[in-house]
Amino acid sequence: MSKIDIPVPERFLSTAYLAVLEDGESEQFCRFAPEAMQMMQDIAAQGYPDEICGLLIGTADAQGWQVSDVRQVENLNEERAADRFQLDPAGYQTIDTELRGSDKEIIGVFHSHPDCPAKPSPTDLTSAWEGFVYPIVSVCDGKVAEVNCWVVTDEVSMGGKFQRLPHQS
Ligand SMILES: [Zn+2]
Repeated sequence: MSKIDIPVPERFLSTAYLAVLEDGESEQFCRFAPEAMQMMQDIAAQGYPDEICGLLIGTADAQGWQVSDVRQVENLNEERAADRFQLDPAGYQTIDTELRGSDKEIIGVFHSHPDCPAKPSPTDLTSAWEGFVYPIVSVCDGKVAEVNCWVVTDEVSMGGKFQRLPHQS
Protein backbone atom coordinates (compact mmCIF):
# COMPACT_ATOMS: atom_id res chain seq x y z
CA MET A 1 0.00 0.00 0.00
CA SER A 2 1.65 3.22 -1.10
CA LYS A 3 1.21 6.48 0.73
CA ILE A 4 -1.76 8.26 -0.82
CA ASP A 5 -3.46 11.47 0.28
CA ILE A 6 -7.01 10.56 1.19
CA PRO A 7 -9.59 13.27 0.54
CA VAL A 8 -11.75 14.01 3.59
CA PRO A 9 -15.21 15.19 2.49
CA GLU A 10 -16.84 17.68 4.87
CA ARG A 11 -19.42 15.17 6.07
CA PHE A 12 -16.72 13.02 7.65
CA LEU A 13 -16.06 15.88 10.07
CA SER A 14 -19.74 16.38 10.94
CA THR A 15 -21.25 15.64 14.34
CA ALA A 16 -23.34 12.85 12.84
CA TYR A 17 -20.24 11.07 11.51
CA LEU A 18 -18.20 11.62 14.67
CA ALA A 19 -21.12 10.30 16.76
CA VAL A 20 -20.80 6.78 15.30
CA LEU A 21 -17.22 6.39 16.57
CA GLU A 22 -16.16 5.17 19.99
CA ASP A 23 -12.79 6.36 21.32
CA GLY A 24 -9.85 4.02 21.60
CA GLU A 25 -9.29 0.65 20.07
CA SER A 26 -10.83 -2.74 20.67
CA GLU A 27 -8.75 -5.13 22.77
CA GLN A 28 -9.55 -7.87 20.29
CA PHE A 29 -7.91 -8.06 16.88
CA CYS A 30 -8.46 -9.32 13.38
CA ARG A 31 -5.86 -11.49 11.67
CA PHE A 32 -6.05 -11.85 7.90
CA ALA A 33 -4.49 -14.61 5.87
CA PRO A 34 -2.21 -12.56 3.53
CA GLU A 35 -4.08 -13.83 0.43
CA ALA A 36 -7.40 -12.79 1.94
CA MET A 37 -6.14 -9.26 2.67
CA GLN A 38 -4.74 -9.01 -0.86
CA MET A 39 -7.95 -10.26 -2.41
CA MET A 40 -10.09 -7.82 -0.44
CA GLN A 41 -7.90 -4.94 -1.63
CA ASP A 42 -7.97 -6.19 -5.24
CA ILE A 43 -11.77 -6.42 -5.21
CA ALA A 44 -12.03 -2.89 -3.81
CA ALA A 45 -9.58 -1.44 -6.36
CA GLN A 46 -11.20 -3.22 -9.31
CA GLY A 47 -14.64 -1.96 -8.30
CA TYR A 48 -13.53 1.68 -8.26
CA PRO A 49 -15.21 4.18 -8.63
CA ASP A 50 -18.14 2.15 -7.33
CA GLU A 51 -18.50 1.03 -3.76
CA ILE A 52 -18.11 -2.74 -3.53
CA CYS A 53 -18.99 -5.10 -0.70
CA GLY A 54 -18.31 -8.66 0.34
CA LEU A 55 -18.04 -11.14 3.15
CA LEU A 56 -15.25 -12.28 5.43
CA ILE A 57 -15.01 -16.02 6.02
CA GLY A 58 -13.13 -17.56 8.91
CA THR A 59 -13.36 -18.21 12.62
CA ALA A 60 -13.90 -16.19 15.77
CA ASP A 61 -12.81 -16.74 19.36
CA ALA A 62 -12.35 -14.71 22.53
CA GLN A 63 -9.20 -13.02 21.16
CA GLY A 64 -10.83 -11.91 17.96
CA TRP A 65 -11.31 -12.98 14.36
CA GLN A 66 -9.23 -14.93 11.85
CA VAL A 67 -10.06 -14.26 8.22
CA SER A 68 -9.10 -17.08 5.86
CA ASP A 69 -11.06 -16.03 2.78
CA VAL A 70 -13.09 -13.16 1.36
CA ARG A 71 -15.88 -13.23 -1.20
CA GLN A 72 -17.36 -10.37 -3.17
CA VAL A 73 -21.14 -10.09 -3.00
CA GLU A 74 -23.20 -7.94 -5.30
CA ASN A 75 -23.95 -4.40 -4.19
CA LEU A 76 -27.66 -4.01 -4.89
CA ASN A 77 -27.58 -0.26 -4.48
CA GLU A 78 -27.15 0.80 -8.10
CA GLU A 79 -28.68 4.21 -7.62
CA ARG A 80 -25.93 5.35 -5.28
CA ALA A 81 -23.28 2.77 -6.10
CA ALA A 82 -20.55 5.32 -5.40
CA ASP A 83 -21.37 5.86 -1.75
CA ARG A 84 -23.84 3.29 -0.46
CA PHE A 85 -23.85 -0.43 -0.29
CA GLN A 86 -26.62 -2.90 0.15
CA LEU A 87 -25.29 -6.42 0.31
CA ASP A 88 -27.29 -8.89 -1.77
CA PRO A 89 -29.05 -11.17 0.79
CA ALA A 90 -29.15 -14.01 -1.77
CA GLY A 91 -25.35 -13.86 -2.05
CA TYR A 92 -25.11 -14.01 1.72
CA GLN A 93 -27.45 -17.02 1.85
CA THR A 94 -25.48 -18.91 -0.82
CA ILE A 95 -22.18 -18.52 1.03
CA ASP A 96 -23.76 -19.26 4.40
CA THR A 97 -25.20 -22.50 3.00
CA GLU A 98 -21.86 -23.48 1.43
CA LEU A 99 -20.13 -23.10 4.77
CA ARG A 100 -22.60 -25.25 6.67
CA GLY A 101 -20.84 -28.30 8.10
CA SER A 102 -17.39 -26.70 7.69
CA ASP A 103 -15.37 -25.19 10.54
CA LYS A 104 -15.68 -21.73 8.92
CA GLU A 105 -18.42 -19.18 9.03
CA ILE A 106 -19.24 -15.68 7.85
CA ILE A 107 -17.56 -13.37 10.35
CA GLY A 108 -17.86 -9.94 8.79
CA VAL A 109 -18.72 -7.62 5.94
CA PHE A 110 -16.23 -5.45 4.07
CA HIS A 111 -16.93 -2.55 1.76
CA SER A 112 -14.99 0.15 -0.01
CA HIS A 113 -15.07 3.91 0.34
CA PRO A 114 -14.12 5.41 -3.03
CA ASP A 115 -12.15 8.65 -2.53
CA CYS A 116 -13.08 8.76 1.16
CA PRO A 117 -11.41 7.79 4.44
CA ALA A 118 -11.70 4.22 5.74
CA LYS A 119 -14.05 5.41 8.48
CA PRO A 120 -17.64 4.26 8.94
CA SER A 121 -20.64 6.47 8.18
CA PRO A 122 -23.92 6.76 10.11
CA THR A 123 -25.50 4.63 7.35
CA ASP A 124 -22.87 1.93 7.93
CA LEU A 125 -23.86 1.82 11.60
CA THR A 126 -27.54 1.22 10.88
CA SER A 127 -26.75 -2.12 9.23
CA ALA A 128 -23.95 -3.25 11.60
CA TRP A 129 -24.22 -6.32 13.81
CA GLU A 130 -22.47 -6.93 17.08
CA GLY A 131 -19.98 -9.78 16.71
CA PHE A 132 -19.13 -9.02 13.06
CA VAL A 133 -15.96 -7.36 11.73
CA TYR A 134 -16.36 -4.44 9.32
CA PRO A 135 -13.26 -3.67 7.28
CA ILE A 136 -13.45 -0.53 5.17
CA VAL A 137 -11.07 -0.14 2.23
CA SER A 138 -10.35 3.43 1.16
CA VAL A 139 -9.71 3.53 -2.60
CA CYS A 140 -8.43 6.80 -4.04
CA ASP A 141 -8.02 7.26 -7.79
CA GLY A 142 -8.34 3.50 -8.15
CA LYS A 143 -5.58 2.67 -5.66
CA VAL A 144 -5.98 1.25 -2.16
CA ALA A 145 -4.96 3.97 0.29
CA GLU A 146 -5.92 2.53 3.67
CA VAL A 147 -7.71 -0.38 5.37
CA ASN A 148 -9.33 -0.04 8.77
CA CYS A 149 -11.37 -2.65 10.59
CA TRP A 150 -14.28 -1.81 12.87
CA VAL A 151 -16.50 -3.61 15.33
CA VAL A 152 -19.59 -2.40 17.16
CA THR A 153 -19.35 -2.13 20.94
CA ASP A 154 -22.93 -3.27 21.58
CA GLU A 155 -26.13 -3.96 19.67
CA VAL A 156 -26.74 -0.80 17.65
CA SER A 157 -30.29 -0.59 19.05
CA MET A 158 -28.66 -0.44 22.51
CA GLY A 159 -26.43 2.47 21.55
CA GLY A 160 -23.50 0.50 20.13
CA LYS A 161 -20.94 2.45 18.13
CA PHE A 162 -18.00 1.57 15.91
CA GLN A 163 -14.65 1.06 17.55
CA ARG A 164 -11.46 0.49 15.66
CA LEU A 165 -10.20 -3.08 15.66
CA PRO A 166 -6.46 -3.59 15.17
CA HIS A 167 -5.65 -5.92 12.27
CA GLN A 168 -2.66 -7.71 10.85
CA SER A 169 -1.97 -9.91 7.86
ZN1 LIG B 1 -19.40 2.90 4.33
